[in-house]
This record gives sequence, C-alpha cells and structure tokens, in this order.
Amino acid sequence: MIMTPTLHRTPGGSLYITDERDYLLELAQDLPDVISLGLGDPDFATPAHIVAAATDALRDGRCQGYTDPAGLIELRRAIAAKLARENGIIADPETEITVSTGGQEGLYVLIQAVLDPGDEILVPDPRYSSYDAAITRAHGVMVTVPTREEDDFALDPAEVERRITPRTKALLLLTPGNPTAAVIPPATLRRLAAIAQEYDLLVIADEIYEHFTYDGAVHLSIGSLPGMRGRTVTVNGFSKTYAMTGWRLGYVVAPAAITRAIRAIKETVSIAAPSLSQWAGVAALTGPQDCITVMRTAYDGRRQALMAALTESGFTYGHPYGTFYIFANTARTGLPAFDLAVRLLTEARVLIFPGTGFGTAWANYLRFSLLQPTPVLMEATNRLKRVF
Ligand code: PMP
Repeated sequence: MIMTPTLHRTPGGSLYITDERDYLLELAQDLPDVISLGLGDPDFATPAHIVAAATDALRDGRCQGYTDPAGLIELRRAIAAKLARENGIIADPETEITVSTGGQEGLYVLIQAVLDPGDEILVPDPRYSSYDAAITRAHGVMVTVPTREEDDFALDPAEVERRITPRTKALLLLTPGNPTAAVIPPATLRRLAAIAQEYDLLVIADEIYEHFTYDGAVHLSIGSLPGMRGRTVTVNGFSKTYAMTGWRLGYVVAPAAITRAIRAIKETVSIAAPSLSQWAGVAALTGPQDCITVMRTAYDGRRQALMAALTESGFTYGHPYGTFYIFANTARTGLPAFDLAVRLLTEARVLIFPGTGFGTAWANYLRFSLLQPTPVLMEATNRLKRVF
C-alpha cells in the first residue's frame, strides 16, 4: 500500500522534507505506460569508448583491488588536466583532488569536513535538496537565499550579502542550477567572489551541469577567479556530462587542508570509488568529447519543444539557460503542484516531480526533466496538453 505523503521535520529541526516524490514514484510503478520526466537520469547510453575502456580494465585484471582512497592517480591527473583546460582551475592531483563515489558522496563528505556545529551556510532557494540533509547531519545551519521566477531564478548578490552574519562559513553555488535551470552569469560570479573575499567565506561550487548551457549562457568556474583558489571547493562528476549516473563517479577539488579532511571522511564512508568506474572516468576525460555536444544539442531541442508546449498551455517558467530541467509555475491550474502531479500521473501517465522536493516554498512549481528521447518527450507533451 502506498503511504500518503506527509511533511517531516528533519533531526536538525528547522528543515522539512516531503516524501511526495517517493509517493509519486511508487504510484508510477503500479501504472502502465508511464513516461517519466522525473529523475535526472540521462536517457543516453554511456559513450561506447568509455564502456570499452572499462571492459578492458576488467579483462586486464585492473579492477580487483581498492584504489588509493583519493582515487587512481591516472584519474586525478586527467581531472587536473581537464580543470586546467576547461575551467581555468589549477589543482594539484596529489594534494587537492579527491575522487568520490558520485558527486553526491563528494558533496556530503565535504560538507561534513568543512562545517562545524552552528556554522551557517548560504544556499540558493530552490535548491538540490540533498544539500539540506548533508548540512543537517553536520549540525550546520542552512540559510536560504531566495530566487524568483521573474528574475529567471538569478541569484542576487545583494540578497546573499544581506544574510551574512559572523557565523557564516560558506556560500554554496549551483550553476547551472537544479531545479531552476538558471546559470549564474560571469559578472554575478565576480561580484559573489568579491563578497566571499570581503567576508572570508568558503565557496562550494557544484558544477555538475557545467556542459549544459543554452541561448548564449556561459559557464564560469568561480574557483578560477583571482583570489578564489584558496577558498573554493569545486564539486563535479561524470553522471550528467557522460551519461554515467550508474557508474557513481565524481570528484572534489579543494585546498590541501580541506582535502585532507575530505579524504579522511571519504575513506571511512567508502574507502575508494569503484575501480572499474575510475578507469572509465580516465577514458571519459582523455577520450573524444563530441559525445557531450551530441547530448547538449539533443537536450536543447527537447528544451525548446517543452518550452513551447508549456507556453501554449499557459504555464510560465524561469528561462532554462542550463541543465536539462524546466521549473514551471503551476499556479494557473489552481492546484498545488503535488495534486497536479498526481493527476498528470494518473490521467496523462506522465511522471513529474513537484517543487516541494527543492524547498517548502515551491508548492506551486513542477520540475520537468528532459531525459526522454525526443519522440517520447513529444508524446508526453501531447498527453499533458490534453489534461491541461
Ligand atoms: N549535484 C546536483 C545539483 C545534482 O543534481 C546531482 C544529481 N542529481 C548531484 C550533485 C549528484 O550527482 P552524482 O552523485 O550522480 O554525481
């Protein structure tokens, strides 16, 4: 039997998480012919040369043992080269790069490493809600910085600055953003970097969607800006860029002292990332990169198709400059987004997550993901239009 969703108070006290998402996922399992625009799991196959490299590593007996807890040195060197080439970040593979079991583990471990109880951390709202749980478990205090649909969910540095107190330790940035699809423009990042320096803040930059930007939006790594190297922790991974969610591979780039703390916790959690995935990661970073362009182009086409369908049905949304999501306003339906999501699932057989999974203020939003082949996505939009 499916449990009715309820609001939960987390152990930390001040945050709430709903299980609306789990409810929808369970409901979807019992229905035939559901099209999922829910999870952020790319529909593309992992590129063949990456799979082949993993197969070779398995066959050659390179996958049996633990790797260095910090990650294979071959992979850390490939990550350092990539950071220099694409992000303008100079990092020492020996002391500043840690391979993690997905960006998720990297984020969790680094938050445990940098936050002391009572430390405040500024986080944009809405946001990827795994941050909430990681911050709560570190007994940190999450201070949310609101963003608005009218501004395409752009983060306003003045709103950030207004919330800084003597207890503020860190500023978490997610660009391109999940669920908002906003991209923080370079000029704003420069302003945020100046604020971080003025108030002596650590910046955590989640750049997992870095390759998916559209309509002229540009991704800039805040860790590359002058004066930021010693105060930025960059999190990234292979899941989105190379369609490798199931391989569980990510990395954290941090100053040496923070890296030491991260590695100590990471080793306790999982010893090392899977060796098979790490060899695949070497191939991903050192092999041809045109697979990324193929995926980006496909996501862009789907994005435009879904934007058109939503606009036609009278919905508004923040302009999706990045990622493969659209965060759409459901207020015109007069239904809370969760109720609408239940109706869309049962009547249109399309699964979409309500905004409450990204912060309690977002009960009038749905996050659509674009991770279905274009004909399937078009079928989903036709079904949605009929119900709308
Ligand atoms: N950060 C963000 C913003 C995400 O959306 C996700 C996955 N949805 C992650 C981190 C973690 O991704 P992974 O562990 O697959 O690298």
